[in-house]
Amino acid sequence: MTDQTVPTEQRGSHEPTVLELGLPMRVRADGLPQRVRIHEVGPRDGLQNESVSLPVEVKAEFIARLARAGLRTVEAASFVHPRWVPQLADAEELFPQVAQLPQQYPGLRLPVLVPNERGLDRALALGATEIAVFGSATETFAARNLNRTVAESLEMFAPVVRRAAEAGVTVRGYLSMCFGDPWEGPVPAQQVVAVGQALLELGCAELSLGDTIGTGTPGQVEGLLGAFAAAGVGPERLAVHFHDTYGQALVNTLAALRCGVTVVDASAGGLGGCPYAKSATGNLATEDLVWMLDGLGIETGVDLAALAATSQWLAGHLGRPSPSRAVRALVGAG
Ligand code: MG
Repeated sequence: MTDQTVPTEQRGSHEPTVLELGLPMRVRADGLPQRVRIHEVGPRDGLQNESVSLPVEVKAEFIARLARAGLRTVEAASFVHPRWVPQLADAEELFPQVAQLPQQYPGLRLPVLVPNERGLDRALALGATEIAVFGSATETFAARNLNRTVAESLEMFAPVVRRAAEAGVTVRGYLSMCFGDPWEGPVPAQQVVAVGQALLELGCAELSLGDTIGTGTPGQVEGLLGAFAAAGVGPERLAVHFHDTYGQALVNTLAALRCGVTVVDASAGGLGGCPYAKSATGNLATEDLVWMLDGLGIETGVDLAALAATSQWLAGHLGRPSPSRAVRALVGAG
């Protein structure tokens, strides 16, 4: 497309700016890891909170594009009952369409979310090799989201984790409301540690600490990770899942990296919004994360330009621009 505002004779002498190059300046900082594994949640956590339900072919292409952009952990589907999450009701159709991608992209992992034994049965039938279960650090959210007490939800997960282990399937535990709860307010660190330890003791290989409403700030992150460390749970067993509702996701991520965490959840293009704050900004956008990690010289394996182009492509299918700052800066508002 021709830019009519720039006279022809000036076009050849234009010096590209940093933004046009699409890369941040790389400057290492002390006390940070060499490499971060991004756990991409866009196709699951992102799409389940979007109002538009996408065709299964678009979801499959989305996952393939994420793999092509270099992401190596992509949460691909949910086996929650379709009545609760109609946007992801096509898991049986979708998973077989992406199950061969690890042959094309060695090291690619495609975990799926399962809420209970019925969900596990569905995931195992399709050959899933990694699953995730989701618990709550607070009683109110457990009651509203799982229709159980925290203790009852742990009882529900116990046979899921045990049977998954017997089948050679790795389990990740998600813990929601680790920082603030919309009904209970700030959540005490010891309460989060107690439920998190229980999930790890069931047999979860990794625990993802979720700031579900995005109210956490860096001191709280350090405090919670310190409380886990004091209880014998080091950062090598933990991941962080920040939401950008109040603009804190990246600074909280940096705080977690300084505490030794090397697994960070993020959603391509910031998909997902925040269902509890009526905000367009929810999940930390993977592009915003990669911009920061690239700038810090931390390896992720992700091609930022390819990822941003993927999010712009998906925004077209969703009919609205990506809320990610990096996507907007790199490819326009879509
Ligand atoms: Mg989320």
